[in-house]
Amino acid sequence: MSLLSVVLPSYNEEQNIANTARVLSGILEEAGIDYELIFVSDGSRDATYQEILKAARQNPRIKGVEFSRNFGKEASIFAGMQLALGDAVVVMDCDLQHPPQVILQMWKLWQDGYEVVEGIKLSRGKESLAHKLSAGLFYRIMSGMIKMDMNASSDYKLLDRKVVDVLAGLPERNTFFRALTFWAGFRTTSVEYEVQERLYGESKWSMWSLMKYAVSNVTSFSTLPLQLVMVLGIFSILFSIVLGIQTLVKYLMGTAVEGFTTVILLILIIGGFIMISLGIIGHYIARIYEEVKGRPKFIISRATDNVQGNVTGNWRKQ
Ligand code: UDP
Ligand code: MG
Repeated sequence: MSLLSVVLPSYNEEQNIANTARVLSGILEEAGIDYELIFVSDGSRDATYQEILKAARQNPRIKGVEFSRNFGKEASIFAGMQLALGDAVVVMDCDLQHPPQVILQMWKLWQDGYEVVEGIKLSRGKESLAHKLSAGLFYRIMSGMIKMDMNASSDYKLLDRKVVDVLAGLPERNTFFRALTFWAGFRTTSVEYEVQERLYGESKWSMWSLMKYAVSNVTSFSTLPLQLVMVLGIFSILFSIVLGIQTLVKYLMGTAVEGFTTVILLILIIGGFIMISLGIIGHYIARIYEEVKGRPKFIISRATDNVQGNVTGNWRKQ
């Protein structure tokens, strides 16, 4: 019988763990699916890990690990994928905003032979207008850059063992799970779902963290911003040719005294271009620096007894 692993990144979700564990095990047991639930506590500051331990004591199919600090949702997802033993792995939020019934549809499609089942948001749930607009812009840019339509895609997915092995084996530190499954390919299909209201607790994302997330994802998937620097340079050169000719002509005609304003404007504009370009290049160098250090994506400090392997330090599936 095939095993289904459900990976649940959890950060300060003490109120959600027990409920989510109960709902998921209920649904999967009723459907007669052999399953394991893997809660990854992302350095939570509340009782999330204690809740996971409690749930694991009641149900041996529940596993959990705790990070030594907050490493972010991407790291939790990848840790979960490395720990998962299933033939298929579902990744979903542990606040039940991803409706759990959809797992059954995904499972069915997997049995039909699909290797990636993408969860597609029907509507974006309750979000502020600013959030909607910036998310829309972000996905438009991302879709254009990676040449795949990512609009409405989410972190709610089912992956076959083959895909999990590919993704969990990627050496890079800066990952963007949502786009990586598109990048990986394989036989893909999608299911639509309606984003649910959060039952307990609140969203972990601030505007600032979303912006950082967007920049880091764009730069981890594309070098387009670097090419933009080149375009800026070409524009400056064209502009300077025109201005240079004008200046020379004025000089030859003996009327070249004025033009102080032009000089100041030019210094400001070119200075601005140079700073932006250096910033973009600097950002990429920072990314290279981070990758070159080769530090692990996450550090596991504790794990429930049913998690196999040596879990402290730079843990990798044996
Ligand atoms: N999460 C995480 N690490 C973080 C932030 C969030 O593991 O640093 C988890 C969180 O516990 C939840 C999921 O990622 O299961 C989605 O987070 P959240 O519900 O806050 O985001 P939203 O649904 O508002 O996009
Ligand atoms: Mg949520």
